[in-house]
Amino acid sequence: MTYVIAQPCVDVLDKACIEECPVDCIYEGARMLYIHPDECVDCGACEPVCPVEAIFYEDDVPEQWKDYYRANVDFFDDLGSPGGASKVGKIDKDHPVVAALPPQGEDH
Ligand code: SF4
Ligand code: SF4
Repeated sequence: MTYVIAQPCVDVLDKACIEECPVDCIYEGARMLYIHPDECVDCGACEPVCPVEAIFYEDDVPEQWKDYYRANVDFFDDLGSPGGASKVGKIDKDHPVVAALPPQGEDH
């Protein structure tokens, strides 16, 4: 089980959640952040600090953002399990579901 970052993070990525994560498993993509499903320890510390409520426990992802579970998992297909986001830094790609979105932000 894991926590999942959903669409409200896109083009916001203020990184408030990163500072709360005790295992450094929140990775930065080009337009949003992604939680590593195998490295997340389900502590829940990140969820309440997100200013746009983008973070959900995987069973609680709202219906309209269900694709973001796969987006967070598939983002790591070619990255494996680096074991820490800070040493990896910004990763210049996004999952296709994110890359296809028009610029977000007017409604945040
Ligand atoms: S639930 Fe905990 S371990 Fe998982 S991403 Fe959030 S802060 Fe990190
Ligand atoms: S706190 Fe929320 S909006 Fe900010 S980077 Fe994390 S998931 Fe994205």
